[in-house]
Amino acid sequence: MKAYLDHIGIAVSDLSASLAFFREGLGLELHGSEDVVSQQVRAHFIHSGTSSLELLEATAPESPIARYLTKRGPGLHHITLRVDDIRAALAQLKARGIRLIDEQPRLGAEQAQVAFIHPSSAHGVLVELKQAASTVAPLGITRFTVGSLELISLYDGTLRLDGGAMFGVVPKALWEKKATPDESNRIPMTMRPLIVRDGTHTMLIDAGLGDKETEKFYRMYAADRSKNLDHALAEAGIAPDEIDIVLASHLHFDHCGGFTTRRADGKVVPRFPNAKYHIRRGEWNDARQTHERSRASYMPDNFMPLAEAGVIEFIEDDMHVMPGVRVQRTGGHTAHHQIIWIESGRDCAVFLADLMPTSAHLPDPWIMGYDLYPMDTLFAKQAFARAVARRDTLVFFEHDPSVPAAFITEQQGKLGLRPTT
Ligand SMILES: [Zn+2]
Ligand SMILES: [Zn+2]
Repeated sequence: MKAYLDHIGIAVSDLSASLAFFREGLGLELHGSEDVVSQQVRAHFIHSGTSSLELLEATAPESPIARYLTKRGPGLHHITLRVDDIRAALAQLKARGIRLIDEQPRLGAEQAQVAFIHPSSAHGVLVELKQAASTVAPLGITRFTVGSLELISLYDGTLRLDGGAMFGVVPKALWEKKATPDESNRIPMTMRPLIVRDGTHTMLIDAGLGDKETEKFYRMYAADRSKNLDHALAEAGIAPDEIDIVLASHLHFDHCGGFTTRRADGKVVPRFPNAKYHIRRGEWNDARQTHERSRASYMPDNFMPLAEAGVIEFIEDDMHVMPGVRVQRTGGHTAHHQIIWIESGRDCAVFLADLMPTSAHLPDPWIMGYDLYPMDTLFAKQAFARAVARRDTLVFFEHDPSVPAAFITEQQGKLGLRPTT
């Protein structure tokens, strides 16, 4: 268990006098307040670096804060430590004979789960444990219609990557407003493969992280596999043998890990028995001849067994892979990274893969530090903005933790997003 200082709670009897001290005296900023009805307390938050101070005011005479003030006067009330898994932390403490005020977590300010440890077990300090409210929306499938095509956004679990690496040259002060980092500075990312169906074909674009790797690998990326592609396909009512086309945006492990599966006898084989796998030739060549910068992203077990099984169709150039679905090379992220346009009737959608992995990557300079050719990413993003101008386009964000897709809008050269519902 790792615990980080979240805030220090201070009981106050004269709020305006204490605010005068913290604000005018120390120059700290007040960041809003919240009533915690269950505790009959009003909490005022003051940020100070990565932690904060919480000024606690009683809102009723029988509030625990009112009782505290009567007994001990104003002053330090509690410290709050942030943990990743509050239930596990409570179980661990209980097993060590620590006296708990709350054996089960309850809802505190900002929708967080909280529980108190008794001061008698914590050397005279009232300690609160807190697990912040999850910013990750529960995973589920989403259906869309594009002309006569049926689209289903799937999921293959989540992982966490360094927020700085995900936003390249953008300062943390800006990106942390869009993607809340955890204690290790990582931000959550979902893998969202996409189904495209007409009456004849069932195509799967990318297939997520897959389940062939070691425990250590999944731990390194804090991968949550509890809701994976098998669940998503079942939820969508699609059997793996119905998929006849698998299309790769590129061959990084978070996109093609699910292309193959490990059989009980240890052999790695194609996961979709009736599918041809469409892979860009240039990407294939780069995946097989890695260098120090690209090696960690390409794992041969994800694609070599496809060649052995003879199920690869190489894409030589921008082209249609099935009626209404065409690939366009963008480069940038990798030299042969491609996005996928889905057009039917007057409707248009685009699967952006790692060109814009999340909705936060919409502005031009918000480009991943992982990209091999960031200037090419910039040009591709600018060309993309021109291509969708004055045209209602549904865009898919393959790694967004909460927004699988949105309509893209353009006003005076600036892109914006409109929710789908
Ligand atoms: Zn990638
Ligand atoms: Zn990716």
